[in-house]
Amino acid sequence: MIGALTEHPAVGILVYHQVGDFKPMRRHRANYCDRRRFIRQMALLARLGYRVLDLDTALDCLAGAQAAPARAVVLTFDDAYENFAQQALPVLQDHGFPATVYAISGWLGRRAEWFAAEPDRPIPDLMSAQRLREVHAAGITIGSHTASHTRLHRVSRLVLRQELRDSKAALEDILGDEVRHLSYPYNSFDRATVHAAARAGYASATTCLRGLATVADHPLALPRLAISFGDRLLAYWWRLLLGPKAAPALVEWRRHLADEPGHFRPLDADPGHGDPESSQDARPANERDQGPMPSTQAPRDPDWTSRPPAPHPTIPDGYSAAKPIIPKSTDEHR
Ligand SMILES: [Zn+2]
Repeated sequence: MIGALTEHPAVGILVYHQVGDFKPMRRHRANYCDRRRFIRQMALLARLGYRVLDLDTALDCLAGAQAAPARAVVLTFDDAYENFAQQALPVLQDHGFPATVYAISGWLGRRAEWFAAEPDRPIPDLMSAQRLREVHAAGITIGSHTASHTRLHRVSRLVLRQELRDSKAALEDILGDEVRHLSYPYNSFDRATVHAAARAGYASATTCLRGLATVADHPLALPRLAISFGDRLLAYWWRLLLGPKAAPALVEWRRHLADEPGHFRPLDADPGHGDPESSQDARPANERDQGPMPSTQAPRDPDWTSRPPAPHPTIPDGYSAAKPIIPKSTDEHR
């Protein structure tokens, strides 16, 4: 059904970090993609007729503003490593694929020194401001990954606002273009973070909640699909073809944010709509280690951006298939 359109858009937002030649590793596997595998993965997308959408187009499809291709993916790259420009970009250009790179505004042009916390882990370079301009000029969308790559749900409200607004402003100064998209470092966000992202003017924010993005999602809490270093082509294809079952935490976030303003399809607008998974018990006993559930539905409040967000549990650090890049002793890996 290549080229077919669908009324039920589901977009696989793939998350990559580094692309290059790496020694096989046991930890942080979702943060690395072998260069040759990346080439094969992009060729597979082309061969199978996937439409690689830029993030804005994907948002339009999810919001119903335009018809969505039956097979749609978005390519995202967290942290803005120099190896994106060296290794990934030429491959993307060969196929004419758009992509989004999330940059840490306070770390541009530096080495990712936090890698030094783990001996033997090579320390990669991050793109400079000039490189970011070049990549942007090549058609890549640049989003924010905050100013200092901090855990947003742990910082004060003042710092939260600064991280979101300052990074957006700094990147916009560098690029001379609007920065509309955000990625939460460490998958660290809560309801206050979502509200702050809305107030800062972001159109979307991606998480490391695992699943396909659908109309059940809020644009400021979009799930993604992590590609692991160990994924052979068949596993990659499988991941795309079936999409993972939405992670329990994602199901809960969908329910939790369903009636927030800005939702792709507010429940009010379509009483018959619902996430088919949301009727299931989202918390089987064996999955309770995936973090506390969002507690209650938000009260309806048209002035939601001005009220203090309700206290709300967050997804714990290290949750999900995509791992935070800053080493953490509790970080578990596939
Ligand atoms: Zn990151």
